[in-house]
Amino acid sequence: MSESIDELLLKSNHKKEELIRLLSVEPGPETEKVLQAGLRVKAEHPGRIVYLRGLIELSNRCARNCYYCGIRAANPMVERYTLSDEEVYQAADFAWKEGFGSLVIQAGELKNKTFTHHIARLLKGIHQRTHNELTITLSLGEQSAETYRLWREAGAERYLLRIETTNRQLFEHIHPHNKAHNFDARMHALTLLRQEGYQVGTGVMIGLPGQTLADLADDLLFFKTQDIDMVGMGPYIEHPDIPLSAEDALLWPSQERFRIGLLMIALLRLNMPWINIAASTALETLDPLGRQKGILAGANVVMPNLTPVPNRKKYLLYDNKPNLDKDPALSTTSLNQVIQEIGETISYHIAGSSMHYLRRTGQIEG
Ligand code: SF4
Repeated sequence: MSESIDELLLKSNHKKEELIRLLSVEPGPETEKVLQAGLRVKAEHPGRIVYLRGLIELSNRCARNCYYCGIRAANPMVERYTLSDEEVYQAADFAWKEGFGSLVIQAGELKNKTFTHHIARLLKGIHQRTHNELTITLSLGEQSAETYRLWREAGAERYLLRIETTNRQLFEHIHPHNKAHNFDARMHALTLLRQEGYQVGTGVMIGLPGQTLADLADDLLFFKTQDIDMVGMGPYIEHPDIPLSAEDALLWPSQERFRIGLLMIALLRLNMPWINIAASTALETLDPLGRQKGILAGANVVMPNLTPVPNRKKYLLYDNKPNLDKDPALSTTSLNQVIQEIGETISYHIAGSSMHYLRRTGQIEG
């Protein structure tokens, strides 16, 4: 006889069929059971704590043309920008003074020497002015081993490179067919990051046109087989100026993408209890309480946006992105309150490294 949902939720090493079954639960009490299991495992492992990462959207210039992305190179509607060094340093200073412990620098993908050295200079500059008290994550796409090494040596410790979907066919469907957009190259870049000693993060979109629950189960298994340290994943959200908008009619309703997004977080927490999981902005886009609900499903990382307000509207990967005009100081105060209200505590002044990474590299026992 097959196991009940309750029995399955006590396991931590699900097979694909079991994951599909748990992703197929009905909205209502069954979904709640899965989400509560995610929270239970979170409470037992990383604990009821939340780490903050100050997000700096450094530039919306990108050489690539992913079909799902609002800032793709070929979108003429985007007003392009790159923050000045001073703007980046001000955001870093804010994060440091507020005790965030960690920063994420994100931008479109550019591969040239000027960009590479610009990033290295910023890394060194931030570390110098914040006395090496901020841990920095980069999210700057596929780069060469040399570039990853240079940035690591300049002080980056973590890197987020989303695979977007582990279904090769679907990956090819949502990207142009050319050398610059290649599934194997993305996989190789993840391997390089690991080799260069980064805490490695990846993630997927949930509810892409044509995506199935079996694909999402494979995504969860991929995180495990790749021994990933951190995951940022969220519901796919439409944008009017992208090629993939032609397939909007195929999408699951947005509430369903949101619900499955929460189930994915909970199931990932069950299967990888020690990793860092972000409550993504995409969750908050679909539900005003999305961030809190993500945390209550097992996420333990939140990324307040520290990009200067005038630039945020120009970094629209998808439509209806929230908090475009909130002052960082005000949003940080309200965030603290909101996190406390759901019974969690923000851990200030610590790097908040992935415990999974610390364990796999022998920095802590277990
Ligand atoms: S998803 Fe990233 S690499 Fe692709 S077009 Fe958007 S910013 Fe560029």
